[in-house]
Amino acid sequence: LIVTETKDTQLKKTALEAISLCAQLEIPCDVAVMGALPPPEDLSVGAEQVLTFPKENSAPPAEIAASLIQTLEPYTVCLLAGSFWGKDLAARLMAQTQIPLFQDLVHVSREANAFRLKKPLYAGKVTAVFEIPMHQKMLWTLRPNAFSITCQKGSGPMPPIQKRTSWVPAPTREQLIKTEAGESTRPDLSEASIIISGGRSLKNRENFKILWDLADVLGATVGASRAAVDAGYAPHAMQVGQTGKTVSPTLYIACGISGAIQHLAGMKTSKTIVAINSDPEAPIFKKADYGVVGDLFEIVPKLTQKLRELHS
Ligand SMILES: Cc1cc2nc3c(=O)[nH]c(=O)nc-3n(C[C@H](O)[C@H](O)[C@H](O)COP(=O)(O)OP(=O)(O)OC[C@H]3O[C@@H](n4cnc5c(N)ncnc54)[C@H](O)[C@@H]3O)c2cc1C
Repeated sequence: LIVTETKDTQLKKTALEAISLCAQLEIPCDVAVMGALPPPEDLSVGAEQVLTFPKENSAPPAEIAASLIQTLEPYTVCLLAGSFWGKDLAARLMAQTQIPLFQDLVHVSREANAFRLKKPLYAGKVTAVFEIPMHQKMLWTLRPNAFSITCQKGSGPMPPIQKRTSWVPAPTREQLIKTEAGESTRPDLSEASIIISGGRSLKNRENFKILWDLADVLGATVGASRAAVDAGYAPHAMQVGQTGKTVSPTLYIACGISGAIQHLAGMKTSKTIVAINSDPEAPIFKKADYGVVGDLFEIVPKLTQKLRELHS
């Protein structure tokens, strides 16, 4: 069972990543959707059945967990996105069902009658590998962007829809008052394919504009180090790292970021890392695929200009 997240009634990328993983593992999957049904092409991606629930993803997590528990019964594996929402929900499901939970998986394969699961530990210093018999009930959360999307929207038949009308109003002291959109209209950081991040060296909030300009040309979104967030240059929602978001984009451009272990923990699984730093000894260069030694205030606008010329 894949418990999906939606945004504006569209399935999020993380749901397609989970569906693609099931296809690669050759295991059939059903999809659970909270609230309004996504458009048919979003659902025609290879799932056998769609289960709908009466409330949206924004319902209190305690209620979602309580309402999902009965549904989990016939399934061996329940997959969720490794987003804040998915990790929170998965932990609640584990606590209430005692089903083992594997959070933040970055790789899953099939070995004879077992699943081989990989997840980073200790801020990415080591990778833990688990081999679990396929018949064992499990909960998985998948790190966003760590799994490629191989299924195509609208490529399969529309699966049957099963409406779950019961909703468990679990005892909770949480109450959703209202939902406010964040400052950014860009893709969520943990799902973005290209991220340009800035550090303390940006010096103020206004200077982040040079990163946004580059992001506009590349169709990217902007992240920040904790030092930049603590200094008030960027909101916490933009923080990448151990105490921020974990990202795995195709391209990560670190501008004026030293490469502290806690920052690397959040971005080192990026496919290609580019670092721009004035200090040739900065630790970020050890992780970077491409490094530019120089002043970001000179290099970033030049890069933006060059890319604009190429795109025009
Ligand atoms: C428990 C804990 C959790 C943490 N969690 C996180 C986390 O989630 N995310 C995170 O990022 N950090 C986290 N940190 C903080 C982390 O240890 C670092 O302090 C932080 O990442 C440093 O941010 P920075 O690279 O922007 O700043 P600095 O370390 O100050 O680095 C600035 C870099 O900019 C370069 N520079 C300066 N001027 C220029 C210029 N003009 N052009 C180009 N380069 C320039 C410098 O050479 C330097 O390398 C955590 C720390 C702790 C203890």
